[in-house]
Amino acid sequence: MVPVIALVGRPNVGKSTLFNRLTRTRDALVADFAGLTRDRKYGEGRMGERPFIVIDTGGISGDETGIDTVMAEQSLLAIEEADVVLFMVDGRDGRTASEEMIAQHLRTRQKKSYLVVNKIDSVDADSAASDFYALGMEHLYMIAAAHGRGVKQMVDEVLAGFPLAEEASEEAVDGGIKIGIVGRPNVGKSTLVNRLLGEERVVVYDHAGTTRDSIYIPYTRHDKPYTLIDTAGVRKRGRINESVEKFSVIKTLQAIQDANVVVLVLDAREGLVDQDMHLLGFIIETGRALVIAFNKWDGMSQDEKREIKETLERRLVFADFARIHFISALHGTGVGHLYESIEEAYECATQRWSASRLTQLLEDAVSDHQPPLVRGRRIKLRYAHMGGSNPPIIVIHGNQTEEVPNAYKRYLENTFRRVLKLVGTPMRFEFRTGD
Ligand code: GDP
Ligand code: GDP
Repeated sequence: MVPVIALVGRPNVGKSTLFNRLTRTRDALVADFAGLTRDRKYGEGRMGERPFIVIDTGGISGDETGIDTVMAEQSLLAIEEADVVLFMVDGRDGRTASEEMIAQHLRTRQKKSYLVVNKIDSVDADSAASDFYALGMEHLYMIAAAHGRGVKQMVDEVLAGFPLAEEASEEAVDGGIKIGIVGRPNVGKSTLVNRLLGEERVVVYDHAGTTRDSIYIPYTRHDKPYTLIDTAGVRKRGRINESVEKFSVIKTLQAIQDANVVVLVLDAREGLVDQDMHLLGFIIETGRALVIAFNKWDGMSQDEKREIKETLERRLVFADFARIHFISALHGTGVGHLYESIEEAYECATQRWSASRLTQLLEDAVSDHQPPLVRGRRIKLRYAHMGGSNPPIIVIHGNQTEEVPNAYKRYLENTFRRVLKLVGTPMRFEFRTGD
């Protein structure tokens, strides 16, 4: 399971700054799950060798008194969800009463917690740190989040015990394709899981997981192995309306990270809502292969169907690589066809191409349409090879590659997608200058 890091501390100590650096994004990818997360932002960690999920919290104001009011509820929840807590303080200020309470609270939890003294660019680091030793935290890091100083080393150290990213490859998946079934509450995930498995399997695997972990269900279909990652918790028939487990963002994000192919379940009766878009954004950032299942298609009028399809075309342009299915999990309509798109997406996501094939493709693309001149010199793209799969990563070597404009990157992606017939998976390009 992908480890989860929570950032807690007073407002203005630099949590958002660190969050943005860890996720390399300005905005949280997933936020605001209808009252479930409010002030918690979730992002995919991109630093060092290990993948992780990071949670940012609004902050714990120093104005209140008493642990219950001081520790904003969201921060408490984030601490509970996390494997690692980074407790941030501002090196320019001394420790405050609220920080002593946070430290006290962390000591009562059996969590890996670290004190992070931020903004050491503008203070004498040693004297700043000395004031915070009194908080009694075991480990202390000194960083400047705004400049990146100390950040990578800290992340490497706090995650050292957690697993490395395992590259998806055919031989790595004994249990077959890992299919993550994700979506907002009540879109029909449990109903779909039951359908995908077939009724007789359900009872066998009917055990509620813990609130945090998804249930992994290995099974075979037409003699092929698969593993479903069930984020909703399989429920027995007759109990299906009973909300056994609460929806959990962390569970969903971990399932996305761990899956080979994600089936994003949407509710046709509600259309596309912001939370769907946040999830979609996260799936794409993570690079997972994707199939979109528009559920509850039964009982929709022709007009409603037309309207929804128009909306999808307009709002899903950035995910236009993914196949969309219109299904009814309740009646089983269209569910079997999901497997065709799941297989296709997985094959595309894990396919390998030789360096000579990719280099030839690059040369053809460049001769059809040259990269632009930069300060009188033309950008040169010389050769290409694979840098990873699920998602496919194409590494391109050349000169001035850091100057390749976005429009040209899009041109390359479109060309590679078309020629390699890539469907159902995001793809990435990495540019390197020199050899
Ligand atoms: P948050 O409320 O804890 O999320 O804090 P922010 O990330 O919004 O940062 C609060 C302020 O501190 C902003 O003006 C940041 O630019 C500044 N800041 C963050 N990190 C650093 C740092 O490493 N050094 C300095 N000098 N300022 C920083
Ligand atoms: P989950 O929270 O995403 O796991 O959603 P459930 O599978 O528990 O379904 C939520 C509700 O939607 C239940 O009342 C289901 O019976 C209903 N539902 C699920 N799929 C469909 C469908 O295809 N059509 C209709 N009309 N209702 C459905």
